[in-house]
Amino acid sequence: MNLRKSANTRWFAWLLALALATSMFASGASAQTDEPLQEEPERAALVEVHVADRTELDRLVATGADLISAVEETSDGYTLSAVLTPSQEAELRSQGFSVGDTVQTQEDVDALRAERSQALQSKSGLSFQTLAESETGALKVLRADYFDGSDGEFLSVEAKSEAGDDDTITVSWDSGADTEIGDGGTIELFDFVDAGVYLYHRRQFSVDTRPELIEVTSGDTGESVTLSVVEWLPLDESGNQGGNSPYLTDFVDHYMDPTEVTERIEQLAAEFPDLAEIVELPYQTNGYRRHAQALLGTLTTNAVVVNSVAWGHEGGNDLTVEFVDPALADSPLSVSVTGNDVVLSGATNASGALVTTAAEAVAALNAAVGDLIYAHTYRGNAGSGVIVAEFEELTDNLSAPEHISRDPWTVKALRIGAHRDGSRLGVLAYAQEHAREWVTPLVMVETAERLLRNYAHDGETRQLVNNLDIFIVPTVNPDGGHYSFYDFNFQRKTMLNHCDDNLSDPALRDNWGVDTNRNYAVGSLFDGYDGASTFCLSAVFSGPSELSEPESRNIAWLPDTFSNIEFAMNTHSFGNYFMWSPGAYSVPGRVTLPRPDFGDEAFFWAASQQILTAIKEHRDTVVTPARTGPIADVLYSAAGNSGDHLWYDDGIFAWNFEVGDAGFQPTFDDEGHDQALEFSNGLIELFRVAYQYDNDNQRPTSSLVPGQGRYDGPVEMVFEASEPVTIFYTLDGSAPTSSSPTIQSAGVREGAESITILETTTVNWFAVDAAGNIERNYNPDGNANNYNKARVTISG
Ligand SMILES: [Zn+2]
Repeated sequence: MNLRKSANTRWFAWLLALALATSMFASGASAQTDEPLQEEPERAALVEVHVADRTELDRLVATGADLISAVEETSDGYTLSAVLTPSQEAELRSQGFSVGDTVQTQEDVDALRAERSQALQSKSGLSFQTLAESETGALKVLRADYFDGSDGEFLSVEAKSEAGDDDTITVSWDSGADTEIGDGGTIELFDFVDAGVYLYHRRQFSVDTRPELIEVTSGDTGESVTLSVVEWLPLDESGNQGGNSPYLTDFVDHYMDPTEVTERIEQLAAEFPDLAEIVELPYQTNGYRRHAQALLGTLTTNAVVVNSVAWGHEGGNDLTVEFVDPALADSPLSVSVTGNDVVLSGATNASGALVTTAAEAVAALNAAVGDLIYAHTYRGNAGSGVIVAEFEELTDNLSAPEHISRDPWTVKALRIGAHRDGSRLGVLAYAQEHAREWVTPLVMVETAERLLRNYAHDGETRQLVNNLDIFIVPTVNPDGGHYSFYDFNFQRKTMLNHCDDNLSDPALRDNWGVDTNRNYAVGSLFDGYDGASTFCLSAVFSGPSELSEPESRNIAWLPDTFSNIEFAMNTHSFGNYFMWSPGAYSVPGRVTLPRPDFGDEAFFWAASQQILTAIKEHRDTVVTPARTGPIADVLYSAAGNSGDHLWYDDGIFAWNFEVGDAGFQPTFDDEGHDQALEFSNGLIELFRVAYQYDNDNQRPTSSLVPGQGRYDGPVEMVFEASEPVTIFYTLDGSAPTSSSPTIQSAGVREGAESITILETTTVNWFAVDAAGNIERNYNPDGNANNYNKARVTISG
C-alpha cells in the first residue's frame, strides 16, 4: 500500500485544528485575525478507518494522515489503522471517511503503565517461483499457499494478468481429496495497484479444510489454470528450536523503558564477561531534555511564546514570567528580574489602558533578559494584539521520573560471541528506531538472554555463540523511547525539534523530531525517493539531511567499523510483516531501487521460510505470504530507511520485522509478552541462517532445461539449480565472467526469467550461491574453461 506519501500539509491543518490555509505557513505568514490559541497538544488515539475502494484509499493516503502499515483487505474495501487526534478524526469524518473502532486510547496506555509498574532447518528448495501459467502465458499464478494458524485456516493466492488491474481473476477450490473444484468455494482476487502501477492480484481468505486443487481463471481471456496448493510454514513435529536439551526462554516480564533495557544489557555483559561486552556507539543523542516553555496570551494576535535558554532540568523549569498591568496612566514598558522571576510591566496610555503589543513585549524581553529566555510571537503572527496580564511558570513538560537521565545519551550495543575479534561472521539486530514500538526492545533482550543463559548446556546455542559475532542494539532511539513511555505514547520520531519558531510552541511538542528510519543515506528523500517528508511536524520527517541524526549515524557506523557484519534485522511493529530490499521507489513510474540479483532474492525467500517457521512454532502466528517480500512489493515506499542503507551501501543481507498485529503497545500479559517470545524465535533462527551461510561450502550445480540438442524452431530455456543461485551467462560463445549478464526475476514476485533461443547458439554459464560459492570452482576472471556449455542447434 502506498501510505504516508505526500508532504503533510493537509494533516498539519488538522493538527492545528484551525481553518488556516497551509500555504500561509509555507510563506511564513499566518492569519492576522484573532483566533483562539492551542495551548496543549491534542492527544491521539489509534483508530480504525474503513475505505470502500482503492480510490478512497488513495484519497486517504493523500491526506497525509499517520497511517499504520497493516492494511486489511476486506470484501467491501480496506480497513487500516491510523494515529489520529479527535480533530483529525472529525476532519476525516467530514470528508466522508468511515472511522470505526478505537483500537487504543490514552486511557488504555495509562492502564498499561499501571500494569508495567506492578511488574517492574533448513527447508529445501524455493517457495519462490511462478507456480503455473495459462497456455498463452497471459495469466500467471505466483503463489497459492495454504496455512493453518492461530486465527484459522487460510488460502493466500497471488496471480498476475497481462490485462493488468482491468482483469477480474477468480479462484475456485475443492474441499479436500476426491471433491470437485468449486466445492470449497469461489472468490475474486483483489488487484494490487500502487503509485498508479499494477503489480499483481492477490487475496487471503479463510477455508474450511485444506484444499488439494484450485482453479484460477482470468475473466479477460477466460483461460484457467489448475494447480495444487502448497503449505506455507509447515511445522515438523519436533520443532526447530530447543528440541533436545532444556532450552531456557521467557526472560521478559514487563515493558522496559530505554533506561531499563540498557541496564539489562550492561548486567548481562557483566555477568558473562567471556561471552559478551558493551560497545558504546559514538554519536550521543540529544538526550531526554527540552527547554522550558510558556505560552502567554489569549489569542493568536496577542500571544507570546517564552522559551528558557537553559534546559528545563538545568534551571529552565524554575523560571516564571509575568505580564503586569500597572493600572497607572502613561506608564512606560519595563522588564525586571528577581531571581528566577521575570516581570514585564506593560506600557499604558493617558487613560491607564495597556497598549503594549505582543511584538513589543517580545522585543523588550529579548533585549532585557535574553540571557535567561527567548521570546517569539505565536506561529509567525505579527503580534499586533495588546498583551493581557498573566503569570506563567515555564516547564519542559517532561514527566519521566527523576532517575531517567536528562543528559545526552550513549546508545549501547551488546556484543555477544566467544570470539569478538572480527574473525567471525557478524550479525546486527536493532530495535526501537520508532519510539512507540514497545515490544521491539524486548525481542532484543529476550534473544540476548537466550544466547547467554543457554550457552553452557545447549549445543546449538554454543554453536551460534562460538561462531558468530552478534551485535544487539535494543533501543536506537532512547530519547523518543523515554518520551513514549512517560509523555506521549504514540511518539514515533526522535525528540529533537528541528522546526523554526513558527512551529515551536508547546502545543506542537508531540510532533517534533526526525523519523530515524527515513534519515539514512540510500534511496532517500534527498535522492528523490518517495515516502518521507520535508515537513518538520510530519510523522515521516526525514530530517534536514541524510544521516543528520546521531540515532541513524550510530547504526550506519556499526558495519563501517565492524566489516564482518553480513546479516541484519531491523525490528519494528506492527503488522506481522517480514521484508527486505528494495524498500523505496520514486514516482512517477514507481521506479524501485535496484532489485537484488535473482540468487540473492531467492536466498532472502528461502531464509525467510526458515525464520517464519520458527516464529510460528511459538503459538501458530503466521506471517502471511502477502506480508513477506521486498518492502516496496508488499507495503509502500519508505525513502531513506536503514534496511536499504545496510543492503545497498554495506552489502548486508538486511531484513525487517514488523512484529505483532495488535497495536504499538498491546497489553503485556495477553499479547506483548508472546510477541517478544515468538519474534525472538525468529531472530535466533536468523542467527542459524547466518551460521549455515557461513558454513556453506557446498558448490551449487545448475543445468539448462531443456538444454543442449537440436530443435525445429525457437526454444525457451530456463536454468535449474541445486539451491538459490545467480546465473552469469553468455550467448556469443565467449567465456562467462563476473560482468556477464545475469538471470533476473521475470517480474515482481515471479520466478527466474527464461531465455529464448532463436538461432543456433552456444550458451556458456556458471552459477554462484548467496554465500559466494561458484559452481565447479570456476574462476570467472581467469582463463579457465570449466564453466557450463550447451550447444543449442536450431534447424529450419
Ligand atoms: Zn517502526
